[in-house]
Amino acid sequence: MICVPIVAPSQERMEREIQFATPLADILELRMDYAPEADLAALIEKRRKPVIVTCRPEREGGQFKGEESARLAVLQRAIDLGADYVDVELDSVAKLRRGSRTRMIVSRHDFQRVPENLPELHRELVAAGADVAKIACMATSILDNLRIFRLLQSTKHPTIALCMGEAGTISRILGRKYGVFLTFGSVARGKESAPGQVGAAQLRDMYRYKQIGRATAVYGVIANPVGHSMSPAIHNAAFAALNMDAVYLPLKVECDPAEFVRAFRELGVLGYSVTIPHKEGVMAALDELSPLAKRIGAVNTIVYRKAKLHGTNTDVPAAIGALEEAVAGGKKAVAEMERSPLAGRRVLLLGAGGAARAVAHGLIEKGADVTVSNRTHDRAVALAGEVGCRALEVSALASAAVDVVVNTTSVGMYPNVHATPLPKEALRKGMVVFDAVYNPMETRLLREAREAGCRTVGGIRWFVSQAALQFELWTGRPAPRQVMERVVKERLEGK
Ligand code: NAP
Repeated sequence: MICVPIVAPSQERMEREIQFATPLADILELRMDYAPEADLAALIEKRRKPVIVTCRPEREGGQFKGEESARLAVLQRAIDLGADYVDVELDSVAKLRRGSRTRMIVSRHDFQRVPENLPELHRELVAAGADVAKIACMATSILDNLRIFRLLQSTKHPTIALCMGEAGTISRILGRKYGVFLTFGSVARGKESAPGQVGAAQLRDMYRYKQIGRATAVYGVIANPVGHSMSPAIHNAAFAALNMDAVYLPLKVECDPAEFVRAFRELGVLGYSVTIPHKEGVMAALDELSPLAKRIGAVNTIVYRKAKLHGTNTDVPAAIGALEEAVAGGKKAVAEMERSPLAGRRVLLLGAGGAARAVAHGLIEKGADVTVSNRTHDRAVALAGEVGCRALEVSALASAAVDVVVNTTSVGMYPNVHATPLPKEALRKGMVVFDAVYNPMETRLLREAREAGCRTVGGIRWFVSQAALQFELWTGRPAPRQVMERVVKERLEGK
């Protein structure tokens, strides 16, 4: 069940929010501590979905500032009015008179940490007469979620157990796999009743929350930060398009990524995407590495296969595939060629960071004639030395004679959309220009290249392709690339 908390300061605002929330929710939580003066009888009377009545005191993270007796009176009144559920704190439950229609959620909140004694605390809540036991506690590490999942798995008693905070977000989604009674989803951004809460619409539509069950396969992206990542949107859309019982989670990993991967083995996660800054650190926890991942020293994909975690890299084939198609004029043309269309081509690679390294290794393997140029020239020299190619000073860029330009710097990326890594004069008709930057979809470099008669490839192509290759490695099924591309474009257009 998805429960939408109603957090509004007046009767009128509560009613307006209830209108928005009702279609999204299986159950509503009336947070009376935000509006103790609101007409509880009218709210209960007019409800179109079951309600939980809560009046949380400040000591448990709520807004109620009045006398304890006044607070308990609100809860008692909710019981007397026949509310479907009342949420009462463990230290107050004995002070309420039970009613025949109302079920009691007995709760405990800890805004500092996940308590050491979770099973014991859970037993206390049940012993206090909880029809539903609730524990909400602050995660200080993503690993804390494991303790919540273990608790949920260990009990048959109806239980709401979740981690708050960004590190705990996954417990609000994946708890359902382990039998949680309900999860909380906010009616809109800014309307969260606790930190780390996911939007109810996102739970329903993106994570397909209500389809999650014991057998649901779990995937996710290991990153830090992770909030901006488009990967959950595109992979979940791909699973939905193929009607697969799978969910893909944003995993904000602040600890050592190898420690994270080892600890999360107990959940049987079937695949990970790995991104900044963990592509190298994660390798220590893997059982096998593909030759490519070993060579470039970076893993962006982990596949769980035959009880082993296998690390590989789809950034390289995705970028090289897109470049080959652009140079040859299509997939079919590439397939008909005896050797790579990049062989012997003069390629100017702008940048010397992680993306540049991946592309440089791929280009050299295909026999391209590569020149690297980077703002910090020493880094260009180091990369050129590593892969065996030339380095060029940025001051000499305008006169470089090349067939293909690949930008792997972040120059031109939102919000600095007027910047370009290459002077217009260096662009000539017939060149292929590839920009790793995908926000905006057409960078200044790509626009000027198009105007100069070059063939252009945007970063979206690379991004979607690396994700599609991951999807195929995990599932063994062709990825719905059009769906994935549509989701990326919609996100970038702010839809
Ligand atoms: P990174 O390791 O941090 O490298 C950043 C690169 O950009 C370095 O070469 C850096 O030069 C250069 N740079 C940054 N600001 C600059 C400036 N103001 N002027 C000149 N050069 C500048 O990052 P990365 O992982 O390689 O990613 C680079 C870009 O590629 C990002 O925009 C990223 O979004 C994009 N990317 C896209 C995809 C995709 O799927 N489309 C995949 C990977 C990366 P210095 O060495 O001098 O600092």
